[in-house]
Amino acid sequence: MPFFMEILPFNACDYRCERCLETERCAVFRMGKERDERNFALGRETEGIEAALRDVKEIFAETTEMLLEKAEEMGIDLDEMDDTERRDPFEEAKQDPLYQQAYDFMIRTRAFLERAEPLITPAGQEFYEDVVWHHTIVPAKTFRAIGSDDEPEIRFDAVNSAAAAIKSLTICIMAFGELALRYPEISEECRGLSKTAADIKRALRERFTECSGRQFEADESRGSLDFPA
Ligand code: SF4
Repeated sequence: MPFFMEILPFNACDYRCERCLETERCAVFRMGKERDERNFALGRETEGIEAALRDVKEIFAETTEMLLEKAEEMGIDLDEMDDTERRDPFEEAKQDPLYQQAYDFMIRTRAFLERAEPLITPAGQEFYEDVVWHHTIVPAKTFRAIGSDDEPEIRFDAVNSAAAAIKSLTICIMAFGELALRYPEISEECRGLSKTAADIKRALRERFTECSGRQFEADESRGSLDFPA
């Protein structure tokens, strides 16, 4: 079991529940399932953008309620808080070169996926889908890791987020290798994107040194597929 799952099931994964072995003990999965069951019992739509927006609105309302309760419990008066001098870690994260590199990776990969799609046969579908899913996780989790990095109380969140980004990069690297083997027409692009993914991985590990060992060693060896000459 990945160590970050032991610490924090929330926000430390790639949200690919259909392939996950942790569904039984995952609170995120359980809550999603309960929400679906509740919607079904109420005869509400469970698919589509309208249903998703309705669910997100409800989740925000529940979260706000929880935060207000917590603040009251801790004796914090939110109306009295002066945030004029506060840093904006999310604005800072957007300017961070590592986040920008991760974001560029997503944009380049998205363009690659559009070009590659007509070539993909059943033999490459699985790897293509891996890239489709994981290339968006990379900037999202990198952003979160950087945004949480300077706050000692939520350092674990930064490490978990970096770990999730590293895992997604590893899966992308493996998938690029498999796609390059099957489709020589796109092997050069796969090679370039794979190299960028490896650079981002290295930078994440240098910055979040907790992500340098344990299960990531196994990921690393699997993520170093050679490309065809
Ligand atoms: S949200 Fe889904 S993918 Fe993430 S840990 Fe839970 S079950 Fe697994």
